[in-house]
Amino acid sequence: MSDQFCDICGRPQVSAQVLIEGAKLLACASCRRGGKTLHEFSGGHSSAPVLPFSAPSSLDSGEEIIENPGKLIKQASDRLRLPLPVIAERLREKESYLHGIENGHLMPSLEIARKLEKELSIKLIDKVQLSVAPSPAAAAKFSPPTLGDMLTFDRKKKDK
Ligand SMILES: [Zn+2]
Repeated sequence: MSDQFCDICGRPQVSAQVLIEGAKLLACASCRRGGKTLHEFSGGHSSAPVLPFSAPSSLDSGEEIIENPGKLIKQASDRLRLPLPVIAERLREKESYLHGIENGHLMPSLEIARKLEKELSIKLIDKVQLSVAPSPAAAAKFSPPTLGDMLTFDRKKKDK
C-alpha cells in the first residue's frame, strides 16, 4: 500500500486520484465520492471499510511510586503516632509486608501505596509521563502533527 495521504481529509488511505473543482487530488474512499475518478489505485483495499482517522495519541501519563517510600511512611507513622501494626490493621495488610516496605526491602503495589497515601496523608505516587522525553519541550517534538497542521498543509498544496 502506498504511504500517500488523502489530499482532502488527510487519511493515509488513498483510494483514487480524482478531479475536484479542476484540481487533481489524491482522495480516500470517502472523499473521492465528491469528485470525478481519474485513476483508481488498486490496493485490494477498495472493499475494506475506511477506518476512522486515528487521532494522534496523546501523551499518556502513568503513575509511579516514589523512590524510598518507606522513609515517608516511617516519618508519617511517627508523626501521626500510628504504629505499623495499627496501619496494617487499617489497611488490612500484613504487618510484615508494611514492615518490608518501611525498611525499603519491598516495593508497595500502587494499590497499597494509594491506601497508605490516604491513611497517612502523604504522597507516595508520582504522576509520570510515559514518554521517554525528559522535558515537555522535547516531548512536543515527538508529537505527531495535529489535524490542524495537516489541513494547513493541504491548503498550501491546493493554492498552488
Ligand atoms: Zn479523504
